[in-house]
Amino acid sequence: MVIWGKVHLVGAGPGDPGLLTVKAHGLIQRAGVILHDDLVPAAILAVAGPQAEVVNVGKRCGAKAITQAEINARMIESARRGLNVVRLHGGDPAVFGRLAEEIDALEEAGISLEIVPGVTAGTAAAAALGFSLTDRRRSSRVIMVSGHRASKNAPQERTDWKEVAREDTTLIVYMPGNDFSLLREELLAGGLSRNTPAILVSHIGIPEQQQRVATLADLDELPPMATPAVLIIGRTLDRVIRREQLDDIPHSIDSVSLLLSSF
Ligand code: SAH
Repeated sequence: MVIWGKVHLVGAGPGDPGLLTVKAHGLIQRAGVILHDDLVPAAILAVAGPQAEVVNVGKRCGAKAITQAEINARMIESARRGLNVVRLHGGDPAVFGRLAEEIDALEEAGISLEIVPGVTAGTAAAAALGFSLTDRRRSSRVIMVSGHRASKNAPQERTDWKEVAREDTTLIVYMPGNDFSLLREELLAGGLSRNTPAILVSHIGIPEQQQRVATLADLDELPPMATPAVLIIGRTLDRVIRREQLDDIPHSIDSVSLLLSSF
């Protein structure tokens, strides 16, 4: 059922159209206006019908950057014109998507809204790499954190990395940037073991996917990777590291038995 004049705040998932929810797919097909993030690829926008006005409101378009206030104004104006509006976020709208600000603006304008979740990059990475974010034997917490808050330029807003440095935690760093030296230093200072596995993975779940593994001790040596990428740190990554190491060595009886023992 199409509800005119309503704004749907929809998660598009990590980029693979197969990871759209059925609900998101239907809403994109029927939308009159789609306001989408940079992260949403053409293969997903291709689901839109011919009636749709498709607008990139990505905030990474350099000089042409659109402010959050402009995105809010555009959603409200389109809804008031009676259009069926889809505000399409990469991943899940509720994870580092400025969803809270969009809800505030729509509520203030008296526009009805519906939130449709999507597969967030962290869980998509776990699936693509074949490991579990939690493991009742070794990881009981998952923390999603923005790497922006690691910036040395914003000390008052910085994440207290020591506080999240725990062996029973899987840490997912969104927007990790390229410089992991401070993160490494503080996680080590917080008591996390030097051999805790880490992985940087970009373009999750699509053919361009790339990943690099490291340990916390050599985290600052990870080469820069194309964006978008997430950095994941924690003991449940052990099995991914073992598999990656197997890919690097010629197959022998030892490596086959190691492979078998890791499943
Ligand atoms: N709402 C999104 C996150 C937006 S913040 C979500 O739930 O996934 C943008 C950050 O998300 C990127 O800098 C990157 O860290 C991560 N990200 C989003 N899509 C990704 C993808 N396909 N591959 C790797 N990282 C991704």
